[in-house]
Amino acid sequence: MERYYRPEIETAPREEILKIQNEKIVKQVRHVYDHVEYYRKKMDEKGVKPEDIKSVEDIHKLPFLKKDDLRECYPYGLLAVDLKDCVRIQSTSGTTGKRVVAFYTQHDIDLWEECCARAIVAAGGTNEDVVQVCYGYGLFTGGAGLHGGAHKVGALTLPMSSGNTERQIQFMMDLNSTILCCTPSYAAFIAESLKERGYKPEDNRLKAGIFGAEPWTEEMRRSIEAGLGIKAYDIYGLTETSGPGVAFECSEQTGMHINEDHFYAEIIDPDTGEVLPEGEKGELVFTALDKEAFPLLRYRTRDICVLTRGKCSCGRTHVKMCKPMGRSDDMMIIRGVNVFPSQIETVLLNEGYSPNYMIYVDRKNNTDTLDIDVELSPEKFSDNIAEMQEMEKKLAAAMRTMLGIGPKIHLVAPKTIQRSEGKAVRVIDNRKLHD
Ligand code: ADP
Ligand code: ZN
Repeated sequence: MERYYRPEIETAPREEILKIQNEKIVKQVRHVYDHVEYYRKKMDEKGVKPEDIKSVEDIHKLPFLKKDDLRECYPYGLLAVDLKDCVRIQSTSGTTGKRVVAFYTQHDIDLWEECCARAIVAAGGTNEDVVQVCYGYGLFTGGAGLHGGAHKVGALTLPMSSGNTERQIQFMMDLNSTILCCTPSYAAFIAESLKERGYKPEDNRLKAGIFGAEPWTEEMRRSIEAGLGIKAYDIYGLTETSGPGVAFECSEQTGMHINEDHFYAEIIDPDTGEVLPEGEKGELVFTALDKEAFPLLRYRTRDICVLTRGKCSCGRTHVKMCKPMGRSDDMMIIRGVNVFPSQIETVLLNEGYSPNYMIYVDRKNNTDTLDIDVELSPEKFSDNIAEMQEMEKKLAAAMRTMLGIGPKIHLVAPKTIQRSEGKAVRVIDNRKLHD
């Protein structure tokens, strides 16, 4: 039977959620206008007053915020309460440039941890579980968020942080961890390390994993599920909106329910800023409805996504977002063709390769080049050169079918590509060096 952390909200009828959102947005816009000079100026420039926002229907009238605004306002420019009322600072991973910092009041921490608790319960978590948190602890929001969520659920929390895979495995086996929380790339590494030590998937007590903080494909999900003998759930979030838990997957595994009582989501055309109808692909934009310290309105995530509002078998009524297809700035334009790293991952896993790869983009003689190093598993590795070349050719052809352009494949020996313990770095674009 499906369980919920807060059933009255998670399964509330649409009208009830809308009512909550409408009440919250009116207050929130007033709060931001009164306390954040930077945003007040943006609203004034656009000719919007707080009284123009009477419900979430009016949100589209508000100006956007982008990562550049956050950098410009670093560190205190978007703070909406007195610093003495804040209890925490967290920071982004800095995947795409200079880090930004976010502030939290105790209310904001509670709200965030509750979102993570909802995700843990959706993955089957109860107070009888042992939750092994191997997201990084510290400024990164992964560790703190899931840790707080696990406490709220009353689970036994193992605050491992990332790295030291040997110790992760020892504690997982000795202390009977039942739920694993980390990035999908680290989960794949843990599965591989268990196998190397002679463990079979049924030897561990894990039943579920809550994996996020980076894009991962359905093929990767199946590979991790088989490797660990678990059901793998996706979780999404970003520091700017609090951290992981903004959206989470339920047992249906067909997208992540957005915690709509706290976050209002829109999909926009990234070029024109126009709001797109449900079901269309575009950039995901969030408005925090009741955060106090760092309440971003219409924050552009740069994540490319689709929202859908169909009925879900889990009974939750909140809107679902698909797996983000990567950020708009992850997209590589190679010889005029749009390529996402996730497409490359899909082909690799479908062709029976490991999820250990590196993508190199460069420009030679005014032509873009795409090279992919693909690590072989010990079973696939051979010193028969002709055989290896045949495999490279076959993989390159499969890539060409998926991407529309042909990469150069380099099969490399087992264990030669560095494993990731946090967010994986899989693309090196050397063209930027020449620009
Ligand atoms: P940074 O922007 O420095 O990476 P964060 O650590 O706050 O900072 O990361 C947030 C970003 O991580 C999101 O905007 C999104 O691109 C990515 N992300 C988080 N969870 C997921 C997920 N489940 N699937 C795909 N991407 C994700
Ligand atoms: Zn559901």
